[in-house]
Amino acid sequence: MLPVIALVGRPNVGKSTLFNRLTKSRDALVANFEGLTRDRKYGEATYDGRRLLLIDTGGITGEEVGIDEEMAKQSLAAVEEADVVFFLVDARAGLTGVDEVLARHLRTSNKKTYLLVNKVDGVNIDIALADFYALGLEKVCPITASQGHGVRSLMEEVLSGLPVEEEDEELDAARGIKIGIVGRPNVGKSTLVNRMLGEERVIVYDMPGTTRDSIYIDYQRDGKDYTIIDTAGVRRRKNVRETVEKFSIVKTLQAIDDANVVVLLMDAHEGIVDQDLHIMGYVLDSGRALVIGVNKWDGMTADERESVRSELDRRLTFIDFAEIHFISALHGTGVGHLYESVEKAYTSATRRLVTNELTQVLEGAVFDHQPPMINGRRIKLRYAHAGGHNPPVIVVHGNQTGKVPASYKRYLEKVFRRELGLVGTPIRMEFKSSE
Ligand code: GDP
Ligand code: GDP
Repeated sequence: MLPVIALVGRPNVGKSTLFNRLTKSRDALVANFEGLTRDRKYGEATYDGRRLLLIDTGGITGEEVGIDEEMAKQSLAAVEEADVVFFLVDARAGLTGVDEVLARHLRTSNKKTYLLVNKVDGVNIDIALADFYALGLEKVCPITASQGHGVRSLMEEVLSGLPVEEEDEELDAARGIKIGIVGRPNVGKSTLVNRMLGEERVIVYDMPGTTRDSIYIDYQRDGKDYTIIDTAGVRRRKNVRETVEKFSIVKTLQAIDDANVVVLLMDAHEGIVDQDLHIMGYVLDSGRALVIGVNKWDGMTADERESVRSELDRRLTFIDFAEIHFISALHGTGVGHLYESVEKAYTSATRRLVTNELTQVLEGAVFDHQPPMINGRRIKLRYAHAGGHNPPVIVVHGNQTGKVPASYKRYLEKVFRRELGLVGTPIRMEFKSSE
């Protein structure tokens, strides 16, 4: 499970600076989902080849009243979803009352907490730290978020404390395709999961493995194994707390990360909203195969359907490899087709690609359309081999490969996709130079 780190602290202590440094984020996933009143930022970091999810909770001043108090509470709720908490304080400002309030809260939350004393550039570190030991937190690390001092050793320590996830391909194969069902609140995820499991040809085995968040449900359909990652938590015994905030972005992102194929559900009545695009962007970044379900297609007029279709055409070009189905989870219409696309996407995403075939496709592509000249010398692309699957990684070797223009990369990707018949999955292209 993708480990989660939450960043908390007063405004201006340097949370965003650290967040940006760790995620190198182009555009972080900003959450303003219904039911969450405070914006939180989500981003992914890769450290020593391991992926982590970061949440920037926004500043807490400790002086909130009324609506602000509610926001502060929600911010602290992010702590509950985290494995590790980075509690930032400002070495230049010294210890404040708000820091003390936050520290008290964090001590009772029982989360692994690192007290990050930020902005130690230009101050006497020993004196700066001494102040903050009073907070009674065990792990105290001086850092400079803006320059990155202390960050590497911090991350090494954090990672060494997190369980290493072993990829067990055999176990994974036994569980069949892992399908993550994701989407905003109320798009129909629960209805779809019930529908998928309620089909006559489905045998549901068990629903143990109730992790902190999503539920993993193993089942068989037409003799094939599947696991649904149920982010809506349909099949879990309902308790009061769950109905309050059953939607969680962390849960959604973890499900995407752990799935083989993501089924992203949207509500036809609402069209595409920003959060749908954010989730798609995250699917793309994580390299997962994707099938899009436009739900509640029942009860739409012909005109409404037409306008949804054209909106999808216009706005989903960045993810045009994904197959789209117009479905009604309520009536069960289109669910069978969803399975077909899931199968196709999975087959594409996990297909073993061999060097011969890849090199032939590459030669064909280069023959049809040569790469450009750079400073009077033509870029040479010689051969290609596979570098991984789910997502498929295609490694192209040649000369001056660092200079291959983006447009030519896109062209190659298109040719590979077409010739290899890869549907429903992103492809990663890597270029290696033999010079
Ligand atoms: P946030 O409100 O907690 O997210 O804080 P920001 O990341 O926006 O940082 C607040 C200010 O502190 C900005 O002007 C940053 O440039 C500055 N800052 C962040 N980290 C450091 C640091 O390590 N040293 C110094 N001197 N300034 C920093
Ligand atoms: P979730 O929050 O994504 O799990 O959404 P739910 O499955 O709880 O569905 C939210 C609401 O949409 C419920 O009232 C459902 O009955 C309704 N709904 C779900 N699927 C459909 C559908 O295909 N058509 C229509 N008309 N309503 C649906």
